[in-house]
Order: sequence, then structure tokens, then C-alpha cells
Amino acid sequence: MAVRIVDTSDPAETESLGAELAGSLRDGDVVLVRGELGSGKTTLVRGAARALGVTDCVTSPSFSIGHRYRAGDRLTVSHLDLYRLAGLEQEDPALLADYLGAGRIAFVEWPPDAAAHELSGARLRVSLTHRGEDRRRIEVVDG
Ligand code: ADP
Ligand code: MG
Repeated sequence: MAVRIVDTSDPAETESLGAELAGSLRDGDVVLVRGELGSGKTTLVRGAARALGVTDCVTSPSFSIGHRYRAGDRLTVSHLDLYRLAGLEQEDPALLADYLGAGRIAFVEWPPDAAAHELSGARLRVSLTHRGEDRRRIEVVDG
């Protein structure tokens, strides 16, 4: 398990970190992205999605749990926002089926201390915290 801590001081730096992390991802991978509202979760996912070949504008899902974006011919980038779900136990397991698995790389936003047992096979765990104004501390745990 490797832990890396990166401090960013503007949204572009957080996007760049997302793009860099995208370089290590493979088909079927899940990335958990935790942090308070406004900490930059969606910003990081946007940078990662672009680096994976998504050309559509990546925005926060608000009327559904997630979005799916085409990334080239063979890959779909899923972006789920489970910030408002306390847990997935009560949800239909099929809810996630359309977003995870072969042919996809999925980014899942969570509240800071959510248990996320359901997604325990995540390849990367990213946690963002506010450090005042435009500064954010981003911890990346691999494996
Ligand atoms: P979340 O998905 O965690 O709620 P968003 O990525 O939607 O957060 O929003 C983060 C907000 O904070 C954006 O308005 C972004 O411009 C701003 N921001 C300021 N500094 C940073 C930074 N260093 N990294 C990421 N976002 C930042
Ligand atoms: Mg968000």
C-alpha cells in the first residue's frame, strides 16, 4: 500500500493530479474519491476523465447517481456521486451494475468518512481536505 500526499493551490493543479493518476488506471478499475462538499472531488475526476479521453464536459451528477462518458472506442468512464447516500445496503445492487465492470473505469465520490465496503476492491482511494482558500490536501492510497 503506497500513500502519497499532494498539496494543490488551485483547481488546475487538482485536475493535473487527476490526469496523472489516470495514467495508472486500467479497464475495470474503481477509484474512490472522498471529501467534504467543495473539496474538489469532481474537479479531480474531471482532470482524470479528460486524460482518459473523455471530450464531453464532466459535471456533477444531480438528477441521477452518475454519468457515463465515452472515452475512445472501447472505454466508458463512469462518474458516480454517492455523497448523499448513507450506504448502498438499502439500494438496489443493480444500481451500480451499469457503471462498474469490464470496459469501464469508475470514479465514485463519497462523503469523508463513509465506509464503502461495497467498493472494497478499489484500485485507488483519494481523500481531499480543505486547507483554506484555494488550497487542498490530497491523499492518494494505492491498493
Ligand atoms: P466536490 O465535488 O468535492 O463537491 P468540486 O470539484 O465540485 O467539489 O468543487 C470544488 C470547488 O473548489 C470548485 O469551485 C473549484 O474551482 C474550487 N477550488 C478552489 N481551489 C481548488 C483546488 N485546489 N482544487 C480543487 N478545487 C478547487
Ligand atoms: Mg462533486
